[in-house]
Amino acid sequence: MKAIVVGGGIGGLAAAVSLRRVGWEVVVYERAAAFGEIGAGVGVMPNAMRALEWMGVDAEVRRLGTPRVSGGVRSVDGRWMVHLPDVGQEKVVAMHRADLHGVLLRALPPEILFNDVEVTSVEDLDADLVVAADGIGSRLRAELLPDAPGPVYAGATAWRGVAPGPYDLPISQTLGPGGEAGILPLGDGRVCWYLAVVAPAGADLDPAALFSGWHDPLPSLLASTPDVIRHDIYALPPLPTFVSGRVALLGDAAHAMTPYLGQGACMALEDAVTLAACDGDLARYDAVRRPRTRAVWRGSRLAGKFGIEMRSPIAVALRDFALRAVPSFLAVRGMSRFSTWEMPVEFTRTSRTHR
Ligand SMILES: Cc1cc2nc3c(=O)[nH]c(=O)nc-3n(C[C@H](O)[C@H](O)[C@H](O)COP(=O)(O)OP(=O)(O)OC[C@H]3O[C@@H](n4cnc5c(N)ncnc54)[C@H](O)[C@@H]3O)c2cc1C
Repeated sequence: MKAIVVGGGIGGLAAAVSLRRVGWEVVVYERAAAFGEIGAGVGVMPNAMRALEWMGVDAEVRRLGTPRVSGGVRSVDGRWMVHLPDVGQEKVVAMHRADLHGVLLRALPPEILFNDVEVTSVEDLDADLVVAADGIGSRLRAELLPDAPGPVYAGATAWRGVAPGPYDLPISQTLGPGGEAGILPLGDGRVCWYLAVVAPAGADLDPAALFSGWHDPLPSLLASTPDVIRHDIYALPPLPTFVSGRVALLGDAAHAMTPYLGQGACMALEDAVTLAACDGDLARYDAVRRPRTRAVWRGSRLAGKFGIEMRSPIAVALRDFALRAVPSFLAVRGMSRFSTWEMPVEFTRTSRTHR
């Protein structure tokens, strides 16, 4: 059975690794001149780690990443509103995105990877299965589901980067009025960070001015980062289906979500292993992945409403008061709500048969 994967991002490469693991012949087409990822961080959540285990690349991910326990949530002045204990939590593996992408790339033989190939139509692809992993602006999705709405601006813009450090910091998220920030320290002293504010799309903004009063080291992380990336945040309204004929949508092409739970790429990894375990049964893939990603998509939107989108001083004060009152065990439970995912047992059996 032959599969063509369109898009060589984290989702597309994960699909290629997973499908090969169950015996498919795979090629990957990537439109960029080279396979690569942007200079930012990714927190590999425990659910995504289990998908990487299934792919057989978890040891390499653990070697390049740093397993960490989240420190918690802070206010703009740096005080902890939720400070999590170092017990009872599964660890998040903090990584540079290029390292995660590199692990997947190295798990594939170079002769199946084709860069500089922009796929314009499914019709041109001769395969039993086409995986549309061509990102939030998916051309294949527009071709297959012409009536489905495209990405919608989520009302916020984000800056990201990797500060050289060295720093020794816990993972943390900072919530302010109309903005939020995150710190994801890599094991080698470098720190991946993001800053986000509510703003119109494309607004001309200076993050140094916007975040100058926020706690240390946020302003200096921004100032010391050589390459700062900015993205306006878009999300894809839920689709009626992830499959059409022999095509399966995967990753952001299927369910691009706001980044407030840090689960977008993690969902693409779950998609990839589930698709492989379904072994060509696309109705099953759709039935399993749509409800799961929909729940996380909603959870992320809700996190945005109680986080970055809260701007009135009274609402912010009430939120911060409520966060400070939450017992640690409940905070841990809330934060791990989506990360307890495991590959369904029947899929584990399927994969064993094929290996
Ligand atoms: C500000 C921000 C912060 C985020 N933080 C996190 C986080 O901490 N944790 C997390 O899990 N997720 C996070 N995400 C989400 C995450 O980045 C995405 O969900 C993930 O990268 C999607 O991967 P993908 O492979 O589906 O798509 P993409 O990474 O977009 O890859 C699509 C690939 O397809 C290629 N392509 C497109 N069209 C074609 C074509 N026609 N032919 C051939 N190739 C094509 C593109 O060049 C690209 O390489 C964040 C997102 C944003 C915006």
